[in-house]
Amino acid sequence: MPWLDQILLENAKFKERINPENLPIKPSTETRAIVTCMDHRINLEALGIPGFGPDGSRDSSIRVIRTAGSMAESRSLVLVMYLSGVREIVFIGHNDCGCHQNETSIEPLIENMKNALPPHQFEVFKASIGEPFKENLLTWLKAFEDPRAGLRQEIESLRTLPFIPPDLITHGLLYDVETGNLEVVVNGYER
Ligand SMILES: [Zn+2]
Repeated sequence: MPWLDQILLENAKFKERINPENLPIKPSTETRAIVTCMDHRINLEALGIPGFGPDGSRDSSIRVIRTAGSMAESRSLVLVMYLSGVREIVFIGHNDCGCHQNETSIEPLIENMKNALPPHQFEVFKASIGEPFKENLLTWLKAFEDPRAGLRQEIESLRTLPFIPPDLITHGLLYDVETGNLEVVVNGYER
């Protein structure tokens, strides 16, 4: 069955199962948010953030921004800070992250892109990144050699963005996908 059909089938089952009265309808007034990697192995329950209940209810109203490598995404940050009043953000990195790349490990990604794109399109992308291509691509991807250093660097570079207020509290935690352990890499209360 094509995936889209599967999704619609699951949606029909979902609507039968839930009670619409239990769905969270009001926008969140929560002033804390999570920025986490898009990796499916990160279980937010490890942070005390439950998923949805079987009846469609949800106990948590914390916003979760998912990006590759738990990198800040300006549009989302501006919206959560200045529409929703978010003033404390936890960045969740993890071991075995796809953003953990160097000049050798990035080669398969480049090969896959070369194989998928028409040659002219690949050249246009390459030109947009500039030379030295591999090195610049790593910078463009915000790749890191070490996940702890990646978290520290992301929080530091966040501070340089012109829309970040001085009182924003930012923490960096590292999630271990093998044990579920959280390690404090940056404690935003100690800044
Ligand atoms: Zn990751």
